[in-house]
This record gives sequence, structure tokens and C-alpha cells, in this order.
Amino acid sequence: MFDLVIRNGTVIDGSGRPRKVADVAVQDGRIAAVGPKLGRGRREIEADGLLVTPGFVDIHTHYDGQATWDPFITPSSWHGVTTTVFGNCGVGFAPVRPGQSAYLINLMEGVEDIPGTVLSEGVKFDWESFPQYLDALASLPRAVDVGAQLPHGALRFYVMGERGADHAEVPNQGEREQMTQLVEQALRAGALGVTTSRTTKHKARDGRFTPSLSAREAELFSLAEGMRRAGSGVLQVNSDFGPGEFEVLDAAAKLAGRPLSVLLVQVDAQPRLWRETLDQVHGVRAEGRAANAQVGSRPIGVIMGLETTAHPFAAHPVWRELRDLSPAERYGHLTGDAELRRRLVQPDGGGPRAFMAEAFHKMFPIGDRPDFEPAAENSIASIARRSGRTPQEVALSEMMARDGKGLLMLPFENYAHGNLDVVHEMITDPATVLGVADGGAHVGVICDASSPTSLLTLWGRDRARGPRLDLEFLVAKQTRGTAEAYGLDDRGLLEPGHKADINVIDFEALALKRPEVVYDLPAGGRRLIQRATGYRHTFNAGVETVHNDELTGERPGRVVRGAGKAP
Ligand SMILES: [Zn+2]
Repeated sequence: MFDLVIRNGTVIDGSGRPRKVADVAVQDGRIAAVGPKLGRGRREIEADGLLVTPGFVDIHTHYDGQATWDPFITPSSWHGVTTTVFGNCGVGFAPVRPGQSAYLINLMEGVEDIPGTVLSEGVKFDWESFPQYLDALASLPRAVDVGAQLPHGALRFYVMGERGADHAEVPNQGEREQMTQLVEQALRAGALGVTTSRTTKHKARDGRFTPSLSAREAELFSLAEGMRRAGSGVLQVNSDFGPGEFEVLDAAAKLAGRPLSVLLVQVDAQPRLWRETLDQVHGVRAEGRAANAQVGSRPIGVIMGLETTAHPFAAHPVWRELRDLSPAERYGHLTGDAELRRRLVQPDGGGPRAFMAEAFHKMFPIGDRPDFEPAAENSIASIARRSGRTPQEVALSEMMARDGKGLLMLPFENYAHGNLDVVHEMITDPATVLGVADGGAHVGVICDASSPTSLLTLWGRDRARGPRLDLEFLVAKQTRGTAEAYGLDDRGLLEPGHKADINVIDFEALALKRPEVVYDLPAGGRRLIQRATGYRHTFNAGVETVHNDELTGERPGRVVRGAGKAP
């Protein structure tokens, strides 16, 4: 008798092969069989008409802190995700010397927009080395598997002290040797990769650039040497690219003998730069080495409302008068005081608001079914023109709608041309893997951790403004594809011997809800979340973690140490 049999589901197994109606049997946390008319199970689920897929593997998250206090890793766990990888983009919380966590919090707060108060209250920092951090993670049973990477920013600060926080400082030979040793130590303990940031977008809260911004070859090669010695791990990079940059990163990956994974988004200022970078990734692959580009499946969308970090009035002097009020008090003032509203929508003469003021043509109200490819005629600017109001008036009234919970979306990357054609080109490229969703980060600004759901709904069903994609392809991209990018060969595929991480999905009902602002982080910290409907069951190692879109409270998830073992 099997532990679990899922009967008659439409099995999309993660390989990209065509779907088939079959039973899936689970025994001892692994897939035992996939086929017709399998034997009895202690538990049986009728999945006629439902999709049965592997659990989703999200390799680009920033749950480094949250994973130490939240066993449920929401929002990802609400979206079919059974494995998350964090420590991306050079930021994280180990290694750390006793008493020196403040700098790492300041860096994470600035780079990934996770409030410092949340982190200082939520993260215990009862570790020093990276292996100790993995042990701390392992001590908390959780709903979702987690894998951690060694962040260059933390490593630099650990080795170089305060000098390490200044990106212009260069490590001496002894420091470089120590970096090599610590990289090797972390990878041998189970780190899945080494990550670095070379983008001017990343600044610590104190205003300084991210410490790894301009690390020279000798320093990067010292990290690579540690990877070479350990013989494992991915080199993950977030860079602005430009002349000579890719070559340096590639040289490091080549020395390491390990895969290179670069973040790839379309930026408005250079809308074809991503294509050049992707061509370079192809060049590496043509030489027989492993490299990929991590791409998103939708625009990177800033979400704006009266309770979020960014919105068109955030820097307005009138808004500043309201800043110290609670959200409810502020909304009360705004509803009760027409003069206040009138003053708030008066342009205040540019300054920090200029960006927002110019962006009304690409700012869109978020409806009950969020639209990730909004058309220009639905922008705040278009609505204003049609209704004879100013864009400011429209924006304010949209944000005040739904009892002050109305939201706007400003797609700021992957949307230079006002449609998702570029994203189609990115996700169908064989050298890309899905990444970029940033679960756990930018919590007051974006909520792209819901991307695995919109990947299926948008590209597999709802897209109206261009071609859609086969579900077989989409599922493979978020399961086998992402798992393989990190060598996690034990998951991402519904085949005997693989880990029984499984989603049972009612595809007709699968939908994203509107994002919401909630105050459930440590110290009452605020974050954006987004729920979904349509997840009938999610299993991690055969244990049900989600039932009818709600967490069951089960915590079978583990720390993934090193690449998974092939069955
Ligand atoms: Zn990131």
C-alpha cells in the first residue's frame, strides 16, 4: 500500500513532455510510481480534471531573515513553491561577527527594502560562520525547503571589517586567502552558491553602494578559487553590465569551473542591453560551459497605495504632514477633508516627485484580477484625459478607493515597450531560467513572489495581447529548469525516485488575488502579500502543506545542503 495516490490527474511532469492522465503514487516522501491504475494508497485524492505538477522551485528569493523566524515562508508557499533559494545578489546574514549584525541589516534594508526594525527584532544572529547559519536554519522545521548561498557582501564585511563596507577598498592578499577559505567552507557545509552584486541600484540604507560593487578581478578570483576547491555551487550575479563586465564574471566562473547565473531584466534606459548580455551567455554555453540568465515572467511592478513605500505623493509636502499618522487616521483625514485632498493633488514643483509625475502614462489601477500586460489606454494618464481630471486626481481617487486600499502598478522593468513581447523572448530562450521574483524582499514596493502563479495563468491561459505558451513548457521552466540550474536533481520532476513535492491545481480556478498590505512582520512590520486561488493541494516530501489555498501547518521542509542527489 502506498502512502498517497493522486488519481486520474492531468500529469504535467516537469520534463516538458506532453501531459497525460495518470495516477501518481508516493511512498516515504518520494514518487513511487506514475502510471495508470496504480495500487491502493492510505490516502487517495481524486484529481480528475486537475493538473498534477512538481512543486515549484524558486531560485531567486531573499528569505535569509524571514526563514529564521517564519516556518511558512509566505507568500511563496501560497503559490505552489516547495523549494526556495536565497542569499542572492550578494546580501545575506552569514558569516557575521558577534555584535556586527547592524551593518548587514543596514545593507539588507537598503538593497532589498526589508525594514531594519523587522530584521533586528526578527533575526536572532545566534551564529557566526556560514555553516552555523545553516544549522540555525535546520533547527526550525518549515513548510518549504530552503537553500542558502554565501553572499559576497557579508563575506567582505566579515573578512575586511569596516573597510569591507567601502566598495573602493581592496582586500590584501591575506584577506583574499581568507575569502577563499570561507567560500570553500560554506560550500562544503551545503551553500548552494556564491553571490555578488555589481549594480549601482543596490545601496545600503546608509547611502553607501553595495560593498561588492567594484570588486576587482583578484577578489572575484579569490571567491572563484574557493568554489573550484569545493567543486560545487553556482556563481550568481546581479550586475548593471556594460563594457568588459561580462568577461570578468565569465573569467571567474571559468576559473571556478562552476555555472554562472546572471540576472537579466530590460531597463528603460537601455532596452536592448539585456539581449547583448544574453548573447554573451549563449557564447559561454557554446564553449560547453554552464551559464544561464535569470529572467522574470512579468514586468517588475512597483505597487503603490496609501500604505506602500512608493506612490505619487510620497514626497509631497502635504503628504509629509500626514506621515506620522496611522494608516487609518490618514485615510480618515483624507476622506473627511476636501481641502486636504485638493492641496495634495497640486503639483509641488518637481524634485523627487518628477519621476512619478512623468510616469502617469505607465501607471495602472490594479483590479480584482491583476493585469500584468496593461494597455496604454488604461493608464492613469489616459483615464485622466478621458475624464477631464488631472492624473494626480485620478491617482489619488484610485488609491482611496476600496476604503483606502486601492492600488496602482508601475511596471518599471521588462516593460519599456508597453507590452510583454520582450518577456516572451526572454522566457522562451533556452539559456534562461526563471528568477528575479525576489520573494521576501522589497516588501513595501513589490510582490513578485506570486510569479509562479501568474506564469501559468498569464502565459498559459489569459494573455490577450500576444502568443501564449504551452503549460508543459511553463511548468518545466519553474520546476525542472530551475532545479537543474542549482543541480537539485532530486526534485522538479514527477518520476519515480524524485522527491514527492507535488502541486494539484484546479487550473480553471487558478488566479491571483489583488495584492494586500498587511502588518504581520516582527515589530508589526508592513509588507505586501498576494494570495492565490486554485491550489487544491501542495505536498512537500509527500506531506500536505497547502489544502484549498490555505497552509495546513505541516512543516516537512528541510534545508537543502549542496546539490541534490539524483535518484
Ligand atoms: Zn535579488
